[in-house]
Amino acid sequence: MKEKGTHKIVIIGAGPAGCSCAISLLNAGIQEVTIIDNSKGGKFHIGESIPPDMNLLLKQLGIYESFLKEEHEPCYGSCSYWGSPLRGYNDSMLSPHGHGWHLDRSKFNQFLVDESLKKGAKIITEATYLGAHKMDVGYQLEYQKRQEDKKTLEADFVVDATGSRGVFAADRGSYKIQGTSLMCVGLRFKNKGQREVSKLTHLESVEYGWWYAARIPGEYLLVTFYTTAAVVKALGLHDLKSWIHLLAEAPNTWDLLAQMEPVENKVRGFNAASFCLNTMTGNDWLAIGDTAATYDPITSQGITKATMQGARAAEIIAYYLQGSKEALNQYEKEVKAQYEYYLTSRSYFYKLEKRWPESPFWKTMQAEEVLENIQ
Ligand SMILES: Cc1cc2nc3c(=O)[nH]c(=O)nc-3n(C[C@H](O)[C@H](O)[C@H](O)COP(=O)(O)OP(=O)(O)OC[C@H]3O[C@@H](n4cnc5c(N)ncnc54)[C@H](O)[C@@H]3O)c2cc1C
Repeated sequence: MKEKGTHKIVIIGAGPAGCSCAISLLNAGIQEVTIIDNSKGGKFHIGESIPPDMNLLLKQLGIYESFLKEEHEPCYGSCSYWGSPLRGYNDSMLSPHGHGWHLDRSKFNQFLVDESLKKGAKIITEATYLGAHKMDVGYQLEYQKRQEDKKTLEADFVVDATGSRGVFAADRGSYKIQGTSLMCVGLRFKNKGQREVSKLTHLESVEYGWWYAARIPGEYLLVTFYTTAAVVKALGLHDLKSWIHLLAEAPNTWDLLAQMEPVENKVRGFNAASFCLNTMTGNDWLAIGDTAATYDPITSQGITKATMQGARAAEIIAYYLQGSKEALNQYEKEVKAQYEYYLTSRSYFYKLEKRWPESPFWKTMQAEEVLENIQ
């Protein structure tokens, strides 16, 4: 067995899960950590609200002070019209961890990469993982940077943190246990008036789905409509005019836009389906974050969950490398238990809305889901 600190860990994907895992491994003294990532900086990234609990995770990683210097927008809670036309509040006044945040997500992703580098990770940027070959211990990975020849890299242990693509896990034969399909169609607006953009997250349910609005740094407001692909098609919601027409029927979200102008001239669609992998561990590898399981954005838990799993995976990898046979099974049990808990909470939340019992959207979202056949 190798000495502690001499193992080579390769993490594929530099999102919150991959970077949190890298930082935690380096904090724990595992010194050879390489991340391969194919994202291109500077692009708009969806997924911006993080709850107060995330402050604690950033503190545990030892990067909270640097995070504060990034000046993301504070988020003081949420305001919702859900289950009733009356406004409900959930504010962070009582949270022991302070307030949450509305992130500039591209900046946040770059921040995590920079912090991983500072801790000693090697990062191969703009490089795509292509495949892997199993060796006696670990894997030989193949990757390619844009405009360059293919290269290989050896790893004693591989972490798949490629988000919902889950490319390494898929190559090992893992498949997604698909949950309810959900998508969103959205647009950014820029404040052109004197009225301050709200520092709360806004939710408003309507017959065909629900609206979400969140302030993002730079006096922008992101407005998205969450529904099923069938509703998007039936109402033609990829068309800006139809989308605006539907938005005008949601009085509380519409009101937020009184002094705002759209930034883009077309709406963008994103897949927001939930799923859990049938298996997220194997011989010398495991999967974390959205690769292992994705959650409905209504929970605002995706980034927190990815960060938490990244940190937990680092502990599990350390046990595994010290010879613990049970470590990966333990991790798998934990991720599946978290997913089951998530399904229960999501179901409870959607069932609070009883105003449109005949709506296909609400019927779909309120159907019971269980994680069967994969225990
Ligand atoms: C519409 C929508 C709204 C959301 N809103 C929120 C929100 O408000 N709050 C919240 O907490 N969460 C939200 N989420 C979820 C959140 O964005 C994810 O849960 C989170 O990004 C998961 O982090 P991750 O590190 O697992 O994956 P990702 O952030 O997806 O990172 C994966 C990384 O892997 C890289 N990669 C992929 N394939 C390869 C390859 N072959 N080779 C090399 N690199 C590769 C990618 O470029 C990327 O950098 C939202 C999601 C959606 C779809």
